[in-house]
Amino acid sequence: MPSSHNTAVPNQAIPTKSARLPVPCPVCDGTESSVVFTPTVQIDDPTRLFGAASGLPGTQTIVRCHNCSMIYENPRFSEEAIIAGYSSSNDAGHDSQHAMRVNSFHTALEKLAPHLPARGAKVLDVGTAGGAFLEAAKRFGYDATGLEPSRYLVDCCKDRGLDAVQGTIDNFEAADGTYDLITLWDVIEHLARPKDALRRIHQLLKPGGTLLINYPDIGTWQAKMAGRRFWWLLSVHLSYFAPSTIREICGRTGFSVFYIRPYWQTLRFGYLQEMAIHYKIPLAGPIHRLTPRLIRDIPVRYYASQTTALARKQG
Ligand SMILES: [Zn+2]
Repeated sequence: MPSSHNTAVPNQAIPTKSARLPVPCPVCDGTESSVVFTPTVQIDDPTRLFGAASGLPGTQTIVRCHNCSMIYENPRFSEEAIIAGYSSSNDAGHDSQHAMRVNSFHTALEKLAPHLPARGAKVLDVGTAGGAFLEAAKRFGYDATGLEPSRYLVDCCKDRGLDAVQGTIDNFEAADGTYDLITLWDVIEHLARPKDALRRIHQLLKPGGTLLINYPDIGTWQAKMAGRRFWWLLSVHLSYFAPSTIREICGRTGFSVFYIRPYWQTLRFGYLQEMAIHYKIPLAGPIHRLTPRLIRDIPVRYYASQTTALARKQG
């Protein structure tokens, strides 16, 4: 967004794009917190913080809530500034792994099947991006619709013959009680108001419907070992959930968590190396350059400290 010069109100404090504001805890609304990590770089432009494909490390002040132990960015930009930042993005790198992601999601559905609604169920995937989960859900036998704010990515979904709608959970219009399953794959940590999103999802689900949340988990031993170098501490992530805070936010929005397990992904080895370079992991660059093409193309199952939670709609 270009900066505007409003000469009509010269003496008034105009919120600029560089203004971070104090925010309450996204889970319990508490305002008492202690700083866990301070920024190592000063970047105040939301188009850089949110427009970058996967976000930037070291830009946030991260706190822990005194009441519920939730870890989150505070202070942070307004929701409007964040959305404007995102609107400049075009995540083609992410989308280049589409086929591999579809397979990874399909494997996950097969594994989770005993806990999920039966084939034929109506599914809404919130923040569907290029439609990798939608495609896996369709192959699995679900009647799946995707919701995605980016027009570019909605068009990617449509080109793949998938059912996608442009929008967010706040403005999505559908009758209450429409869906058997609503999925949030790597979405909840990006939301400025996650509780509002879960309340809306509660309305959209049928009685006893299932909510799936996959999220980067800051409660794992890998995250604790990594400390401030934890690879999911990125400018695009506003909230850092652990199993206890996922249970807490679900409980507060009318859900009961009944499954919570590590999520394993499958990706091309070379892509993992490229991500390691992006996250400035030592020696990642030289090792990548020495890796033959054949090895770069090998599919790898890996665990990157992500967790899948399933919750049942109550009431
Ligand atoms: Zn809290």
